[in-house]
Amino acid sequence: MSKTVNADSTTKAGKKAKTTKAAKPFEIAGRTIQPGERVQFDLPTANLFTHTPLNMPVEVIHGRLPGPVLLICAAIHGDELNGVEIIRRTRSFGALNRLRGTLVLVPVVNLFGFIHQSRYLPDRRDLNRCFPGNERGSIASRMAHIFFNEVVKRCTHIIDLHTAAVNRDNLPQVRAALDEPGVRAMAEGFSIPVIINSGLIDNSLRAEAGQLGIPVITYEAGEALRLYERSIVTGVRGIVSVMRALEMLPAKKIQTVRAEPYIAKSSGWFRAPADGIFRPIAKLGARVKAGDTLGVISAPFSSDESLLLAKRDGIVICLSNLPLVNEGEALFHIAYFEEARAVASEIAEHGSNIEEDRLYEIESVPSPAEDPRSDAT
Ligand SMILES: [Zn+2]
Repeated sequence: MSKTVNADSTTKAGKKAKTTKAAKPFEIAGRTIQPGERVQFDLPTANLFTHTPLNMPVEVIHGRLPGPVLLICAAIHGDELNGVEIIRRTRSFGALNRLRGTLVLVPVVNLFGFIHQSRYLPDRRDLNRCFPGNERGSIASRMAHIFFNEVVKRCTHIIDLHTAAVNRDNLPQVRAALDEPGVRAMAEGFSIPVIINSGLIDNSLRAEAGQLGIPVITYEAGEALRLYERSIVTGVRGIVSVMRALEMLPAKKIQTVRAEPYIAKSSGWFRAPADGIFRPIAKLGARVKAGDTLGVISAPFSSDESLLLAKRDGIVICLSNLPLVNEGEALFHIAYFEEARAVASEIAEHGSNIEEDRLYEIESVPSPAEDPRSDAT
């Protein structure tokens, strides 16, 4: 149901609504997309040695009214799948019919890694260390160059979706350089309990897009090569919440899952003090206090055991799932907060609310043009 907003109308909150002018056509990758249009296209990035093209799928939903241009991208690390599913669900969110601004969706940036279930590209590069790319470089640099120039530079805001590496599970969290312009509002707008104020890695999408003044947040949740429902629902909810914060979607009449965001002071890895068989005791999202037992490492062929004792109070935000460990391997990522107890209870409450939340399914309806049944003969 579309609603006409008159110029200078007054909202319930007493604020003046924005003057409503129609959006201009949106230019991206050599295409022109008209207001109200929804377009999918393949962006050629590189060829395999078989001459098979590696095309990056892109979808643009261009609202009738002007507003931010939000890019949501996933699988820059080709084996990180939760984001692909998050975008698949987000694209059918019913309220996108009333979109203000433009949504650019790239569910699989690293198509080669996605096919091969690998983080990397055939030149063994990590695509997220290759931005802004080089048109004459090897495959990762070329792919980064095309994505950066044709897509990233056309956007005003970015949400980049990731998971932990293989055999690790990340608690849903936002990572962001909060002092960069526009970043804090997006991070807090995501409305989840844990935000990590995270430094910028050279040549990452976050760092290089940030250099252009584009605010970027990263949503990290779950594990590579797995779909975790809680991570997915939290991600869809977070994106919709950011879009509301950016006024791309109308405010919600019914209050849904929201959480008080807490910003970690710092974080650090707890590493294996010995080789052996690892059994975690502390759970993902749990509060641990200095001296608590995080887990146990047992010698494989004797009864020797080492207890892993927490050194400081904090919250477990990433956990290794692989029981076979060598000394020095990272087992727990622990974030340190001023109010660890409050964070832990917010995480527990948010988790149980998300498990009960099915509203996105009710709101997700395919538009008639997309419903495959409408083509049935
Ligand atoms: Zn990643």
